[in-house]
Amino acid sequence: MRPPVLDPLFAPVSSLPGIGPKIAKLLTGFLTQNPDREATVADLLFHLPHSVIDRRHKPGIAYSENGDIVTLDVMIDRHQAPPRGSKAPYKITAFDDTGQITFVFFHPRRDWLEKMFPAGERRIVSGKVEWFNSQPQMVHPDYVVSPEEADSLPTLEPVYPLTAGLASKTLQKGLGAAIDRIPHLPEWLDAAHQRRNHWQSFSEALVQVHKPDERQDLDPESPCVQRLAYDELLASQLALALVRAQMRQLGGIARATTGTLQKEVIAALPFELTASQQTSISEINDDLAKPVRMLRLLQGDVGSGKTVVALSALAQVIETGAQGALMAPTEILARQHYASMLTLCEKAGIRLALLTGKDSAKTRRDVQEKLLSGEIDLAVGTHALFQGSVAFRDLGLVVVDEQHRFGVHQRLALSAKGRGVDVLVMTATPIPRTLVLTSFGDMDVSRLTDKPAGRKPITTVSASLDRLEEIISRVGNAIQSGQKVYWICPLVEESEKIDLAAVGDRHRVLEQALGQPVSLVHGRMTADEKEAGMQAFKGGDTRVLVATTVIEVGVDVPDATIIVIEHAERFGLAQLHQLRGRVGRGDKPSTCVLLFKGPLGETASSRLNIMRQTNDGFLIAEEDLKLRGGGEILGTRQSGMPGFRIADAESHADLMETARDDARLILDKDPQLKSERGEALRALLYLFGRDEAIALLRAG
Ligand code: ADP
Ligand code: MG
Repeated sequence: MRPPVLDPLFAPVSSLPGIGPKIAKLLTGFLTQNPDREATVADLLFHLPHSVIDRRHKPGIAYSENGDIVTLDVMIDRHQAPPRGSKAPYKITAFDDTGQITFVFFHPRRDWLEKMFPAGERRIVSGKVEWFNSQPQMVHPDYVVSPEEADSLPTLEPVYPLTAGLASKTLQKGLGAAIDRIPHLPEWLDAAHQRRNHWQSFSEALVQVHKPDERQDLDPESPCVQRLAYDELLASQLALALVRAQMRQLGGIARATTGTLQKEVIAALPFELTASQQTSISEINDDLAKPVRMLRLLQGDVGSGKTVVALSALAQVIETGAQGALMAPTEILARQHYASMLTLCEKAGIRLALLTGKDSAKTRRDVQEKLLSGEIDLAVGTHALFQGSVAFRDLGLVVVDEQHRFGVHQRLALSAKGRGVDVLVMTATPIPRTLVLTSFGDMDVSRLTDKPAGRKPITTVSASLDRLEEIISRVGNAIQSGQKVYWICPLVEESEKIDLAAVGDRHRVLEQALGQPVSLVHGRMTADEKEAGMQAFKGGDTRVLVATTVIEVGVDVPDATIIVIEHAERFGLAQLHQLRGRVGRGDKPSTCVLLFKGPLGETASSRLNIMRQTNDGFLIAEEDLKLRGGGEILGTRQSGMPGFRIADAESHADLMETARDDARLILDKDPQLKSERGEALRALLYLFGRDEAIALLRAG
């Protein structure tokens, strides 16, 4: 049950003065992700101002500069009303010791103006000054009050992000009332930690950001914003830690093995493992040997060799008689994993099966039966693997490839297919540490930091589409000398038809210009067609593959050495890097050509520059975060950190680390959140909408 002390914050926004059903609906759409529930007072309060207007700025009329927002103490001189029916503005002149100003009103309400600006009286007026023909004027002043009411003027007035149809005054009025309803809440922070940071209480900090004393109060580094950001981060870290504790509590199985099967798999590899592959494998072996569930993220740049690590882990579990599953985000990838593992598995005696949504009913039934009877050790597939009809005899380890394509919920749901299932998540997106923490929580992380030996560097160049013919003729030379080329065309949802036509055109142009068949793979083809196109390219029947971004992740054709990315300006950094990772997988030097259509915007141009300058996935991810905000890296559309309203990936990274440690410590000491601080923390979880985690407490 939600602590009653929070009730005022969970009241609907329409309970605030000045907010009727229409504005409430607008605010719900603007402030929340969930249109089914009206935005609450808390939602409104977490909508922080982005800047302030300093109404203390009182330079006098003559010293007010064009565009300045100023507060003037003036004597009202006279009204110049336009003739009735005229469209001309209504003007009021006024003066102070330094000069004269005109207040300008369009569509005036005359009686109101006469009341508010009585001729011959003093008024305090605040608004933006504009100089027009060397005369200062103020169109529609923001405030006008009598000298006696001067105190009612805001000094530092917060400015909020708005949306169409939402007037600043309406929002401010609602917020004013909301601020008055902020209750005193029990403190959930550790007292020493709070003191060290000079943080106010939650409610004081919240009031402070809405009624700043100084401009600096709104900086991400200000104590009040830091306090609120920390609260938000702590709520999320605590929720994730609770989920993790719950998963662990359900119990894992200690996999006692001799490691024979794993050794066989590794021995069958045609290459030596890299140092970080070895480290990762032993980290995973340690996890598997413990009686708690493994929740590990295997992070490695494209081409760093994650698949081998996954297979070693699977071998370890399969040796104990349990089964493994590897889930890939697309049909092509699932097939590719299957194909690349088949030989190794045969050598090691691992019974492997493929299961995708495109299988015939018969194949599907056959695979399902064998999974249930235990005649299959390892199933590779798409999300089809985790549909209701699929059951395993004894599922021990789930490996999820390219995690960012799956929701966190899917990840949690799939481990329900077995008892104490260990989970290994592989991601090629070099997610910065901060985002790992926010989206994966307290997972253990193994990183593949070195590339397999013998890899040749990739040279990246950019060229304007004007040079298309030249590029095509170079591609022609390259394939003459036996190289293989990817040619990527973009596919964006909004213009899918046009793009599909463009891919088809490009395919025809290349076949004609090169005088030989070229493979074509795009998202609108059937699985069989795609597979045939990939196979022709892989096997060498064709030397050029024209593809949309279906090949973005994981596709492995080690002897491809050139990738041309058409309309590179339309791709994000992370995506460009993923695409580039399709080459440079063999022992030959490779080239990436970024073909762009000018003129380039600022962001597109910095993206292409970064791509030319570095091959380091982590660096690129950091830059990407700067250019686009964390949301897009994880495939959501918001800017800032996905799911966060106050905390910011860049400014509050250190707070995130602290919050994670804090959350861990809290649960060590008080796993059921029963202490006084525990009770307060429950309120915190509700406050930031992380209360699903509380249900876990009751269950456990
Ligand atoms: P990713 O991390 O992008 O999933 P893969 O697992 O697909 O990378 O590996 C990319 C390529 O590198 C594959 O062809 C794989 O066989 C090869 N590979 C993996 N590990 C090594 C290694 N230690 N030495 C040489 N080649 C390797
Ligand atoms: Mg891969």
